[in-house]
Amino acid sequence: MNIFKKISNRLSDIIFPRRCVGCQEYGIVLCEQCLATLPSAVLTKQSFVTALFDYHNPIVKKAIWKFKYGNVRGLAKNFSEKLYDEIIGDLSDRLYITKNQTFLMLPIPLHPQRNRERGYNQSELIVQELIKRDSNHLFQFSPTALLRIHKTKPQAKSDKRRARLENLQGAFKANQKIVNGKDIIIIDDVVTTGATISEARKALLASGARSVRAYVIAH
Ligand SMILES: [Zn+2]
Repeated sequence: MNIFKKISNRLSDIIFPRRCVGCQEYGIVLCEQCLATLPSAVLTKQSFVTALFDYHNPIVKKAIWKFKYGNVRGLAKNFSEKLYDEIIGDLSDRLYITKNQTFLMLPIPLHPQRNRERGYNQSELIVQELIKRDSNHLFQFSPTALLRIHKTKPQAKSDKRRARLENLQGAFKANQKIVNGKDIIIIDDVVTTGATISEARKALLASGARSVRAYVIAH
């Protein structure tokens, strides 16, 4: 992040102090009480995707918006607390985790140009927080395993389903040397239709990934 952006973020912290997106309490981006009341997501269309919170809930929507576009990076910590428990619970229910097994944990990548504009990839922040919590060393991160090679239009602007799918086709490229034979966990902030995450999964499977599951904050 450049120095001017840093200064302007610091100034906006002083002029508009952080408040909980739920109860407006000062000094915190999302308090424990509000986090505990967020409703669970309904099932996604894709059976390989697990979502934590219901995106229709106004607090969830506001928190995600601030996390994604409002530079409120601290939310990665709040979200990852819950997501970590969800992933561990889910993996032990579904899979027999063998000794020394690891999972490659990959955020949905942004196109490099969009990453520069925004200054950060919100999904990568979640992955970093999850890996901090991973004292069993189950998860590994590779910044070059999955890349976004086409700059797609924001999904909201390409509203027809077919246009949206065409917009995404070939958007991702997986590195076969890294993903071949691996069990992969994709992390993203929001899943709506699941088109993006399905396209990323397709690229990973085509490059030899053994299995691909995905966990997202909201749906
Ligand atoms: Zn609160």
